Amino acid sequence: MNLKDLAQTGQMQQRLSALGESLDTYLKFEYGDAMQHQTQWRDRLNQPLPEQGIGMTGLMQTLENDVLPFASPIPRPGFCGFITTGATTAAVVASTAAQVAAPQRYGLTSFNYLEELSLHWLAEMCGVAHLQGVYSTGGSVANLVALGAARQLAFERIGVDPSLDGVDRPARVYASSECHHTIQRSCGVLGLGRRAVIAIDCDEQRRMKVDALRAALQRDRESGILPVAIVANAGTTNTGAIDPLAEIAEIAAEYQIWFHVDGAYGLPGILDQRLADLYRGLERADSVIVDPHKWLGAPVGIGATFVRDREVLHRAFTQGEADYLEGSVESMGQGSDDKHSMDDFGIPYFDYAVELSSPSRGVMVWAMLKEIGVEGFRQRIRRHNDMANYVADRARQHEHLQLLVEPTLSVCCFRYVSDEVEDMDVLNQQIFRQLVHENAVIPSTTRVQGQLAIRPCFIGARTDMNHAEALVDAVLRIGGEIVAGKVNQKR
Ligand SMILES: *Cc1c(COP(=O)(O)O)cnc(C)c1O
Repeated sequence: MNLKDLAQTGQMQQRLSALGESLDTYLKFEYGDAMQHQTQWRDRLNQPLPEQGIGMTGLMQTLENDVLPFASPIPRPGFCGFITTGATTAAVVASTAAQVAAPQRYGLTSFNYLEELSLHWLAEMCGVAHLQGVYSTGGSVANLVALGAARQLAFERIGVDPSLDGVDRPARVYASSECHHTIQRSCGVLGLGRRAVIAIDCDEQRRMKVDALRAALQRDRESGILPVAIVANAGTTNTGAIDPLAEIAEIAAEYQIWFHVDGAYGLPGILDQRLADLYRGLERADSVIVDPHKWLGAPVGIGATFVRDREVLHRAFTQGEADYLEGSVESMGQGSDDKHSMDDFGIPYFDYAVELSSPSRGVMVWAMLKEIGVEGFRQRIRRHNDMANYVADRARQHEHLQLLVEPTLSVCCFRYVSDEVEDMDVLNQQIFRQLVHENAVIPSTTRVQGQLAIRPCFIGARTDMNHAEALVDAVLRIGGEIVAGKVNQKR
């Protein structure tokens, strides 16, 4: 086989349509779970480093027969665990196109342009049109980038450039006890230390208590510690709670502290008109993040950070000039006589976050919006919120169910209860494991005020009310069976 055969310069159409067929088969979910067949695929895939390739045809067959049938349950319509879901077709198609035609997001190309246009659209749709954005791999990095901007500004104000010189004194970031732990990790990476994050207590709805925030700020102000940011949640990972954004914005303004909103999951909830009030205060945010790969259904690998002015990102994260980069771009940003797409980098996203090489991600957001429009997302998000409310209603009504916290968005935390059983945590853990093994509706669990909760989070484009019904029915059925078994044992 010569090199040309191996590289397969043409034949994209044939290969992609064959792959498309295999993927459609996969999306029927008739294979059962990967672990049912684990010896089969492990044995078949466990081969030594190939000295000779098998060529494209062989590869395609292996993908179809030995890999795809044993893939992840996450895209299943009934999967409602964590905050992750299968990708929508529009976004997959767009990202595939980008991987072929725009390996980098820089250059004066359509893809670079869509990076910016989609950031504008996303910001406008999510109520933060006053902010400028940059994409990264997801919420983890998006939070890091936002807090990097906050750190930059806080230290510059006292005459230190933390990007150049590091940080020279203790600093604080204030976030609710329900914040995502990527906030702590970001502070670790940024040299502030994980302990810089002060956990502010929450109320029964798992929202930050603003009085507690105020008390913490006051205490630290008196001891001269540098405040870097206040982090509010627009949709916590645990329960979907939205912190009182308007009140927190007010306090941030009063203390002149950067106001960051983590909306990785919940920012698109603003599209549900019934909840719009909960998002008041967002317009005062200094930074906001959202993950298109969560509620919007993009393939995993895209988060967005929005800030007022990307210049602060540039100061915090600039790549620094390199002869092989800037030296290769003729007009050096003059723009006047660009004749080739490589005469200019276009918007220098690599200077606004932590990646130089990066896929063109914006095209996915653009494609999803072109396909279904804001109205399409609005309907989907309403449907998911309705599903969480449906689960909550049934939990309120049924004697063997208990609602642990009122849903705000598309998460609902509830559990099975029975007088016959002592340890409700163990019971619900057993119900949960059984749900997973049945492989039809798969939620996750969490703890709400110490109690184990069954936690569906509905975000999938392919999920609908039938799955919410099926979940509650299954919990009741399995709970009933387990309790009956225990009662029989006792007798
Ligand atoms: C998921 C999530 C993150 C982390 O995002 P990744 O995309 O998983 O890195 C951060 N904050 C919140 C609120 C989240 O739900």
